[in-house]
Amino acid sequence: MIADKILYNLNEIFCPNDLDRPLRGAEMKEATILKNGYIAIYGGKIYEIGEGDVPEDLVGEETEMVELSGHVATPGLIDCHTHLVYGGSRENEFAKKLKGVSYLEILEQGGGILSTQKATQKASFDELFIKTKKLLEHMMYHGVTTVEAKSGYGLDWENEKKQMEVVKSLNENMAVDLVSTFMAAHAIPTEYKENPDAFVAEVIEMLPKVKEENLAEFCDVFCEKGVFTAEQSYMILKAAQEHGLKTRIHADEIESIGGVEVAAKLKCTSAEHLMVAGDKEIELLAEAGVIGNLLPATTFSLMAESYAPARKMLDKGMAITITTDSNPGSCPTANLQFAMQLGAFAMKLEPTEIFNAVTINAAHSVCRADKIGSFKKGKNADIAVFEAPNLEYLLYFFATNLCTHVFKDGTLVVEERQLRNADLFREEFFDINEAHDQKDKAKKLKTRIPMYLDDLMRAEENK
Ligand SMILES: [Zn+2]
Repeated sequence: MIADKILYNLNEIFCPNDLDRPLRGAEMKEATILKNGYIAIYGGKIYEIGEGDVPEDLVGEETEMVELSGHVATPGLIDCHTHLVYGGSRENEFAKKLKGVSYLEILEQGGGILSTQKATQKASFDELFIKTKKLLEHMMYHGVTTVEAKSGYGLDWENEKKQMEVVKSLNENMAVDLVSTFMAAHAIPTEYKENPDAFVAEVIEMLPKVKEENLAEFCDVFCEKGVFTAEQSYMILKAAQEHGLKTRIHADEIESIGGVEVAAKLKCTSAEHLMVAGDKEIELLAEAGVIGNLLPATTFSLMAESYAPARKMLDKGMAITITTDSNPGSCPTANLQFAMQLGAFAMKLEPTEIFNAVTINAAHSVCRADKIGSFKKGKNADIAVFEAPNLEYLLYFFATNLCTHVFKDGTLVVEERQLRNADLFREEFFDINEAHDQKDKAKKLKTRIPMYLDDLMRAEENK
């Protein structure tokens, strides 16, 4: 078989073990690291990986050869917990945070999620689309090819729907893949403060519409003191499962109020945060096979000490991921690499554990492990390439983006730190005359012609 594209002379290729289930406990230490390796791509999928010289039978006249000595490749990184779509920003709360005002106190003063709720309700679809697109571009620069995105700043049907429609549209129009999560149960709106059960009932009423309109795959609830109780969380998530949605739960972030028990009982795909989870909670999650999505950048941003007890979780056989929690309040970042570095610096995880967490295990956390998360033959050729002599270097040399190339379905979307084919915008976004102008300009400047322009020309010719 002649490959379409071959990446070769890579110093190291990180290859997670692919067991058709998340890696648990000591399994997370294991991985194959190929030295002086190559990756052959055919039809946008992984065709072959190996060490040493590229086999001649893979190379034809048309094969694009990409020389990458001095670089390390991993499966495209997966950010499996983000609150991606929102209006406004909350730097005004930063000063309060520095003075030691707690997250729950800021929320009580009408700040926090509730201020983002107002800004999100006010923002138009287009405003949210453009703002979120920029955030996604930052994520792609850092090697991310798939992102989970939660709603939860609308808190009423119209605005929750708007957020989920932005996610849907970005998924269709950008190279990065998005996995949508419905999370109206993110905060109690002020008007329901005296009667939160009425809001729980309203969220449950939204569930069939989420499913019917195909707006999300997952449902998530913020189970926390002052937000949703364990009983309310159980009711919402149980109803979500009955409507065919997969489930997650924010649990044990600030106080342990029973969210873990709900996750175990309902066998949720994942439980999020788990900063204050104790032995009993960890054992429950390990036994129930619930993935722990850990968010060390949030602990860092909250200036807290309580990083999730990741080492203990692995000792007890849990499966974990690391993810940004990207959101405007408790974790304003687009840099998954920094969260991974905190996995090392603050949670004392080893490099293979960290890279397994953001590739194969994160793929399971978004239920896409049949397509992404490893270099198994036939999986999507989603690849992150970093300028580094080896894998350890990517954690050791911290807070600096070393990602140079990103391939999504085999197409180069970041090349030498420049976005290339990030947009897959089609006719509805582009006037055909504008497309011709851009194509001419690209030819003149001898730059790469974006993929969507080629598609557009072809569509026009076929008319
Ligand atoms: Zn969250």
